[in-house]
This record gives sequence, C-alpha cells and structure tokens, in this order.
Amino acid sequence: SAYRDEIKNAIRTVPDWPEPGVMFRDIMPLLQNRNAFRKLIDSFVHRYQNMQLDAIAAIDARGFILGAPLAYELGLSLVPVRKKGKLPFKTVTQSYDLEYGSATIELHTDAFKPGDRVLVMDDLIATGGTMLAACELVRKLQAEVVEVAAIIDLPDLKGGEKLRNAGFPVYAICEFD
Ligand code: IMP
Repeated sequence: SAYRDEIKNAIRTVPDWPEPGVMFRDIMPLLQNRNAFRKLIDSFVHRYQNMQLDAIAAIDARGFILGAPLAYELGLSLVPVRKKGKLPFKTVTQSYDLEYGSATIELHTDAFKPGDRVLVMDDLIATGGTMLAACELVRKLQAEVVEVAAIIDLPDLKGGEKLRNAGFPVYAICEFD
C-alpha cells in the first residue's frame, strides 16, 4: 500500500555496518521525515486502538521511540524494557543469545499487573531473540502478550516465524530480504 511504501522508502540501508556483510536497516531518516514518521505512528494507532491493550513494553532503545507516542495516543501505560543494570527497583531478568555472546534485559517486578494485555514493540525483528526474551519477561509477570510489533521484519532470518511458533502474534509494517 502507499503508506507502507512511503515508510519503507524512508528507511536507509547501510551496507557493512556494524561489521562486514551486514546490511543495516537505519530508521533515523524515517524519524526525520515528518510525514513518514506521522504515518508510521498513525498506522500503529489504527491497528491497536481497539485491541483493549493495557500497556506497551518498549524495547531499549529504538523501541522507546515508537512505544512512547503510541502509548500516549492510545492512553496506555509505557513500560520500557531495559538493558541489564539500568533499573533501580526489584527486577525480573531474561538472557538470550546473540551472534557472539549473550545479552540480558529486565523489567521492574511491578511493571504489569497479572492479566494485563501488553503489546511488545521494537524497531526491527532479525532472529527474534530480543523480542522473544521481552515476551518471556512479560509472561514472568503473568501479563499477556497480545502481539509483537515492529517497523521491519527480516523474514530470511525467520524471527517472525520463531515468535509465532512460540505463540506470539507478529505485526510488521514492512519486510526487507
Ligand atoms: P534479533 O534479536 O536478532 O531479532 O535482533 C533485533 C534487535 O537488534 C533489535 O533490538 C534491533 O533494534 C537490532 N537490530 C538488528 N539488526 C538491525 C538492523 O538492521 N537495523 C536496526 N536494528 C537492528
């Protein structure tokens, strides 16, 4: 559709970053483009306005940029999912594998009430490891992941498939091969 094309066309591809062979999908030009940025947030608003959500779990750091305006517009709680060591109160943590090594993300133990309906947001799904770890954290607090949302899915890496197989519906605005 036209809005999807406009959003996709505003994403920049940077070859060989952060290392040789990687095609990095850079959303900074999309955020700078006021028309495309508005359409981006509006398209999420349209999708989620009638889903009876309670909160958005927004993943550190580009997920914050999307989750905040969406939570504001829909009147939802905003729950930043942080990289380990940033949250001051009691936390639940989840580790996951990266290409080299591992990473840990965390949430405050009072981030959700049991049964809260939660949307998990990030800019991009690659292997799906980050999103899956965030979903596990939401589950640890007995809240429900209603959907996982991103601007971009990279279907060749099968992250979307991994998330769906784990029982988490996935929505992405565009895909890159
Ligand atoms: P995954 O855990 O393999 O799905 O990787 C997704 C995470 O890495 C997200 O938090 C993304 O922000 C980041 N990421 C991986 N590749 C890219 C990219 O090409 N552009 C922007 N972010 C990326």
